[in-house]
Amino acid sequence: TLHNTILELKGNIRVFCRVRPVLPDNDSSGTCGTVISYPTSVEFAGRGIDLMHTTQKYSFSFDKVFNHEASQEDVFVEISQLVQSALDGYKVCIFAYGQTGSGKTYTMMGNPDTPEQKGLIPRSLEQIFETSQSLQCQGWKYKMQASMLEIYNETIRDLLSPSRPSSQEANAASSKQYSIKHDSNGNTIVSDLTIVEVCSINEVSFLLRQAAQSRSVSRTHMNEQSSRSHFVFTLRIFGTNENTEQQVQGVLNLIDLAGSERLARSGATGDRLKETQAINKSLSALSDVIFALAKKEDHVPFRNSKLTYLLQPCLGGDSKTLMFVNISPEASSSGESICSLRFAARVN
Ligand code: ADP
Ligand code: MG
Repeated sequence: TLHNTILELKGNIRVFCRVRPVLPDNDSSGTCGTVISYPTSVEFAGRGIDLMHTTQKYSFSFDKVFNHEASQEDVFVEISQLVQSALDGYKVCIFAYGQTGSGKTYTMMGNPDTPEQKGLIPRSLEQIFETSQSLQCQGWKYKMQASMLEIYNETIRDLLSPSRPSSQEANAASSKQYSIKHDSNGNTIVSDLTIVEVCSINEVSFLLRQAAQSRSVSRTHMNEQSSRSHFVFTLRIFGTNENTEQQVQGVLNLIDLAGSERLARSGATGDRLKETQAINKSLSALSDVIFALAKKEDHVPFRNSKLTYLLQPCLGGDSKTLMFVNISPEASSSGESICSLRFAARVN
């Protein structure tokens, strides 16, 4: 038995692990709906998770482990306080990390049209709008701004741009720079990025749909690109209390990361190789930053990727970070699952 004990991440960084259920088979032979009894490689033990890979057992533990039976509500209950803190003026980042198909998008977005299947983005927004309304009677007035972007091959794309180009060529030809700067108040500014003031959950839902559409349009042009890019939803919250003149500024970043799977060493050439290198670079840059922050190191290498540079003001200081590690339960995924768990536990 091989024991990989998690490095206790200190301070404001938490790591949750979520294992998705085995999915009904969906192949084209018409057996849609049958659950194949894949051998599963996962066992649970409280905050721990044991993984069988070949003949070895690997053990990890996290701040929280959600098994395949955990509902979207079960997960949200554990993060609602964190979401709430954005209204109190904190900068919050919630990430979903894992191989393609492990449940990142389900965790973050879910199915927004089915109440039980709504993910944490719609649930967080509902809570924020409800709470901000109930705080009105105490004199609080809130202004909220939303933006949504993706980072693909270290290039930012605006998902709310009215004139969003639908092909890579058009994007390259556009004059939009999307360069990242930080102002003296510790806010990130992305030039040319569309920022929309939102006053209700319906307005944000509309924008989320627009962003999803924008992503899927480019997907048909570009080879399943959504699993190869990072999706970043940002809600900026400006609160003013009319009675006390108190002011708060919080930020909630919800990030659906690119698939972490390693590509078979052979065969990856050209665009695919470039994509993989960009993903590897940004995911390891993220890991380096979180590790440096957890260890309270003096130098935190934020500038090594677009993603970490973009999120810099929301990762250090008294900001709060939560990382979901999403895991596929099938034994055939155990190799990737171990890589994901090691990324999170940073036991390399
Ligand atoms: P990823 O974004 O990591 O590639 P998805 O979120 O798209 O993975 O999940 C892959 C499939 O598994 C989807 O069909 C999704 O609906 C389903 N799925 C993922 N997690 C769960 C879960 N906890 N419960 C039920 N279905 C899930
Ligand atoms: Mg996804």
